Amino acid sequence: MADYDVIVIGAGPGGYVCAIRCAQLGLRTACVEGRETLGGTCLNVGCIPSKALLHASELYHEAHETFEKMGLMGAAPTLDVARMQAYKQSTVESNTKGIEFLFKKNKVDWLKGWGRIAAPGEVEVNGTVHKAKNIVIASGSEVTPLRGVTIDEKTVVSSTGALELPEIPKRLAVIGAGVIGLELGSVYARLGAEVTVLEFLDQITPGMDLEICKALQKQLAKQGLTFVLGAAVQSAEPGENGVHVSYKLRKDESEGALDVDVVLVATGRRPYREGLGLDTAGVALTERGQVEVDAQGRTNVPGIYAIGDVTPGPMLAHKAEDEGMAVAETIAGQHGHVNYGVIPGVIYTSPEVASVGETEETLKAQGRAYKVGKFPFMGNARAKSYFMADGFVKILADRETDRILGAHIIGPQAGELIQEVCVAMEFGAAAEDLARTCHAHPTCSEAVREAALACGDGAIHA
Ligand code: FAD
Repeated sequence: MADYDVIVIGAGPGGYVCAIRCAQLGLRTACVEGRETLGGTCLNVGCIPSKALLHASELYHEAHETFEKMGLMGAAPTLDVARMQAYKQSTVESNTKGIEFLFKKNKVDWLKGWGRIAAPGEVEVNGTVHKAKNIVIASGSEVTPLRGVTIDEKTVVSSTGALELPEIPKRLAVIGAGVIGLELGSVYARLGAEVTVLEFLDQITPGMDLEICKALQKQLAKQGLTFVLGAAVQSAEPGENGVHVSYKLRKDESEGALDVDVVLVATGRRPYREGLGLDTAGVALTERGQVEVDAQGRTNVPGIYAIGDVTPGPMLAHKAEDEGMAVAETIAGQHGHVNYGVIPGVIYTSPEVASVGETEETLKAQGRAYKVGKFPFMGNARAKSYFMADGFVKILADRETDRILGAHIIGPQAGELIQEVCVAMEFGAAAEDLARTCHAHPTCSEAVREAALACGDGAIHA
């Protein structure tokens, strides 16, 4: 007889959510985790610690930049990096302990150690083989190495090292203008570092709506970040004068270099499969080394599923969570489903950027007839009172049916504002449905309604 109905390998947002849902659905469940704490990349070295530092650094910046404008006088706060780090760590710990509590509450067994699939239906942890009717691989991702650059987590750091720098570097180079690079680059820029972002492509945040990318780059440049686009980094060598970073500009092969105190390598992450025994179990991979799955998260081996960063799709915690719930439901005989067309993406810079669904570029490539409703936060009373009126909301809707196809927001609380569009899209709503929904005044969400109005007869405050 099997020891468990389900063994989940990995307790990140994909794995722990899957394990809890399995237990809630009456399945005897265990979750294997090799780290000392639960929560995976997201809670330990990803979403949560980065957002804690973003929050603290944003308040610090506000205190220096906007308090006086609102009549809040007096000495602006000074920086105590050790205390900021302690605040970040306590946020992480309260969340990882929270997952431990949820495991106990839902009767999920935590098998502490590194799990290996010994055979279909068998997971070995610390020399003990546990039998399971179903196995869910949720092993997450790791930093992709960059040729010519050796990460030592001291002066040449990955995001993990960047989250625990003991002091603020005077000069920071960020390699990669993706979400992680821009978020952590903003943290250190606000805390006083001179930040240069080197990006291989000719634009920042590839894949986002181009108009939003340009607006974000402009805003971040205003905040003091320097961008070198189209730059292929060749090497980053620690020496007496800090780290010497050399790069080649792709347009003309000309060489450039800069000396900095710390280099953050933020060029991407790759699926983590080490020690899982996928070969022995015969689990098929994609060309990019992800675990291949069907729409229900099934691998090619019966009884083995995979979710989260180790599978294809956006590397986001909420995508992993949704897959975790869907796979649990499928295993329990229900109809687990993830709507990949409505997965929001948020960049937690200031201003925030949030996006869901199609971009203008993807719609053009599909040859689809669409219309654009745009509204600037300059016409929103609440945003103006925050000194956050530079951004805009953009809604893309089908030209014929008015159905919402995508939305892109740069501005205050964009990450919260996008959610109403996600719900609307999930229900197959038209822009007019959003436009006819009463929005409380004064809120930043009125800008979303105005953008929806702009898809039809026109916004009121523009
Ligand atoms: P993970 O969270 O990586 O968890 C996998 C777990 O499996 C790990 O704990 C690992 O130890 C364990 N494991 C692996 N192999 C084994 C094994 N053989 N045995 C036992 N345990 C094993 N996403 C967002 O949506 N929003 C954000 O704001 C955000 N910010 C981020 C900031 C940073 C700096 C980083 C690095 C990432 C961020 N992400 C964010 C991405 C997010 O963290 C990941 O998408 C998410 O954690 C993926 O979840 P997962 O469950 O697939 O894997």
